Amino acid sequence: MKPYILWFGRFKGQSVERMMFDHAGYSYLRFILREFNDKPQLLARIREVMQRGEQPRIVTACPTCGTPATHIVAAGDDREGFSFEAEGWCEAHCPEEHRRQKMPLKFSSVARFVMPSDQASFLKNLRDHCGLGRERLTAERACDFFFPA
Ligand SMILES: [Zn+2]
Repeated sequence: MKPYILWFGRFKGQSVERMMFDHAGYSYLRFILREFNDKPQLLARIREVMQRGEQPRIVTACPTCGTPATHIVAAGDDREGFSFEAEGWCEAHCPEEHRRQKMPLKFSSVARFVMPSDQASFLKNLRDHCGLGRERLTAERACDFFFPA
């Protein structure tokens, strides 16, 4: 699969798959879904990528039981901002308490955060759990992540 490149707008030249990892890009994709009815191919690709982003391939494991992580802990609140603990957990073992919420490791969780800085750090954290943290995330790498060979 080849990256799907936008040909208009403020993200012109960027790929749909790469934009998923950028909070402004992700929000622009949601804007396209809402506002652009005349681009069926593009809409289909965004829907496909977002659907795959609901069950991303996670490389980290729950420290308690060793199954693939599905959740992380977001500590803080909407006023002060959140910080994210590096560890990923399965849902059952994910610690949740006052000001520490468990958050599913999927792309749509980003919509839970009000502050752009929180959205950005959530996506960075998710990216680490997807094993994409270190090397530069090119359009090709992002595409291979959503559409593995
Ligand atoms: Zn577990």
